[in-house]
Formats: sequence, structure tokens, C-alpha cells
Amino acid sequence: MAPAVTAITERVHFAQTDLVNWTLVTGSDESGGGVILIDAGFPGHREDVLASLRALGFDAGDVRAILLTHAHIDHFGTAIWFAGTHGTPVYCHTDEVGHSRREYLEQASPVAVARNAWQPKWLKWSVSIIRKGALTHEGIPTAAALTADTAAQLPGAPVCVPTPGHTGGHCSYVVDGVLVSGDALVTDHPVSGRRGPQLLPSVFNHDQAACLRSLDALGNLDTEVLLPGHGPVWRGSVRDAVDQARLP
Ligand SMILES: [Zn+2]
Repeated sequence: MAPAVTAITERVHFAQTDLVNWTLVTGSDESGGGVILIDAGFPGHREDVLASLRALGFDAGDVRAILLTHAHIDHFGTAIWFAGTHGTPVYCHTDEVGHSRREYLEQASPVAVARNAWQPKWLKWSVSIIRKGALTHEGIPTAAALTADTAAQLPGAPVCVPTPGHTGGHCSYVVDGVLVSGDALVTDHPVSGRRGPQLLPSVFNHDQAACLRSLDALGNLDTEVLLPGHGPVWRGSVRDAVDQARLP
């Protein structure tokens, strides 16, 4: 399924696919123009990411940086290609740098996932993500920590909000008044049994207690639009979204 690209603000655009989402933020002329990506899909989403850039009038070479919420393959897949082929800078929270470089891996083990494979939607999802390159083990050796100085120069001047739990160095971003929450708070997932704001199934989370603490951090933000890593855009107070996600 090609991504639906939705304008959220003048500068923030949301690309949604059935498997994972990413966000594009365009720069003003004064800030040097160009575009950044927040997250970058599976490796097999390259044509979709390029299509979302073209929809806004950009090419791969116009991407000034890729910001990662975290270094799971569904979020940094095409960043491997961008960094290797175009030298695109890739940034994440300082606690996620080693993960991005694949000095270690904090992903749900295939065994843990396989335990759920008796459920048709888990099996269908597994097949879909493997087709999109989920088994890629490559890292991004050039991945670096996003400093406040660097962030201030980028389109939309994104602000990193640490939200560890899903991975040890997961962070969310506030950009142009919009919250990009990655997998700290999602609104749906192919294996989820419910719709609406929620945490991912705990099998995917490195530290479930930290996920709950990070939800509180998000609930204190004063934003009215939430762009999650999985599922549709959420409009309304983030506190309401967090309260829903806390429901069992
Ligand atoms: Zn994800």
C-alpha cells in the first residue's frame, strides 16, 4: 500500500502505511529549505519514502537529516540507504546511538514473536514485514546523538522528548506544535486487538515500566496533534490519549 501523505501543518506532513508511519518536515527558505524525515520505514519502503518526498517536491538529496525515534528496523530501514548512498546525517537520542549502529539489538526476539504466530494476524504481519526487509541486521555506523544546537538548525527546529521504554533510548519529538511519538504511544498496530491510543504489546517493549513512565511524560505535553509510529493521526489533547492508553 502506497503511503497516504497528509498535511498536518504547513510544514509537517504525515506518511501513513499499513505497517509503519513516518513524518516529513519542510524547512522555510530562511532556515535553508529542504526537508527532514522523522523515522524512515522498513528497508523495503524506499520507493514509498521517495514517493512521499516527491509529493512535497523533494528528492533524496534534499533530505537534510533523518531523526529516529528509535532504531527498530521498521523505523530506520531506509535510513540505512540514505546514510550509505547520500551521506544523509542520521540522528537519535544519545542513548539510542549504539543501538542505531547495531552495537547491540533491543528488538523482540523471533522466538517471543513466534509464540504468538498461532494467531492469524501475527502470522500475516510477520510475512508482510519480512517482505519489507525486517530481517535486515545492518546498522548505521554514522548515526549520532541529536544535540540541541543541531536540532535548532533543522527544519521545524524539532525538540527531543526522552521517552525510553520501548527501547532504552527511545525519544519522541515536538515539531511545529505537533507530537511525533514513535512507538512510545501508538493508535493502532497490525497485531493489536483494539483501535485508539495504546501501548504496543509488551513483547515489543524493552522495559514496560519505563514505557508507563514515559506515557506520563507525554501526558504533560501541551500539544493537540499526535503522529504515532503506528496507526492514524490522533487529534485532541495528548493527556486524553495517554489516559486511553493506560486503560487495560
Ligand atoms: Zn515500530
